[in-house]
Amino acid sequence: MRWLRTICFGGGLTLLVLASYASTSYAYQLLGNKWPQPTATFYVDINGADGLWNDAFEGAMYLWGVDTDFEFRIVRETYEDPCDPIESGRNGVSFEDTDCGDSWGSTTLAITHSWFIGSTTTQTDIVFNRNESWNVYSTPWSSWPWSGVNDFKRVAVHELGHALGLAHEDSGISTIMGTYAGDTTVPQQDDINGVAALYGPSVVNYTLSTHKYGTGAGIISSSPSGIYCGSDCNESYTSGTRITLTATPSAGSTFAGWSGGGCSGTGTCRVTMTAAKSVAASFSLAALLPPQLCFSTTGLEVTASWTTVPGAAGYTLYYAPFPYTGEDSIDSLKWQVQRLCP
Ligand SMILES: [Zn+2]
Repeated sequence: MRWLRTICFGGGLTLLVLASYASTSYAYQLLGNKWPQPTATFYVDINGADGLWNDAFEGAMYLWGVDTDFEFRIVRETYEDPCDPIESGRNGVSFEDTDCGDSWGSTTLAITHSWFIGSTTTQTDIVFNRNESWNVYSTPWSSWPWSGVNDFKRVAVHELGHALGLAHEDSGISTIMGTYAGDTTVPQQDDINGVAALYGPSVVNYTLSTHKYGTGAGIISSSPSGIYCGSDCNESYTSGTRITLTATPSAGSTFAGWSGGGCSGTGTCRVTMTAAKSVAASFSLAALLPPQLCFSTTGLEVTASWTTVPGAAGYTLYYAPFPYTGEDSIDSLKWQVQRLCP
């Protein structure tokens, strides 16, 4: 039987939340032990605050099951001492004056104690530092109006990440498993990938297919990259990847809108790869207005000039009568733009 103590800190450092969606970076760290099944049960009866801690802890347990195969189960109104030296096999949680007899570090918020045999977790207990100031909020960490107050729920999410087998991840990627508490409140893609590595499914890929239709022309591109349609209209992405598609009409065309994949309208199209998906973009030919014509004569020579029209392949000028016999003799002009074939 071995014992692992995972210490988690509060403090002034705020984690950077990356704006881009990381789809190919896997930075999660594993503790080295995990449950034999993708589930663990906590006995939860945290005194105080009219049930606020119990509700927040249950909410934190739920968050780990949203995009993973792991499920935390809860037995409420049943206290299990997380510091009970007799290994009960039951997982408990509470606020404690000390870390089960050891002194808290000056910035330690909570500690997860894991028991395991070989690499199999047999019990895990979570203790929160009672000497700290706690509440539940979702605004930036320790900022007004919660300056100096720790958000119990996001720390619980973090500790439960340890309870299922994740270690600290401090490479700078967006994660709930950073050593220091920050603005991240829910498991991120990297955390979800870590759970998938522990409990499956193995990383699943889904294909995003894009199509174009309509009388116009244009390009569909993706962020993260992979689609430039154009010629590259299909791409395989890791399950859970969030993709933004952008439609750029060619000169003389307009973008008429999205369909499929839950997208509509003419803004950007965002899809999350929870299954194979297909998205179509409609491009229409823009109405071609005749160019502005400038017309001058020098003696008997006539010069016509005009501004070019985007998307126009050529221009035809009709005039009458024929033959032309002088500026005063022109009684009609017809100016027509030829359309560029898509
Ligand atoms: Zn931690």
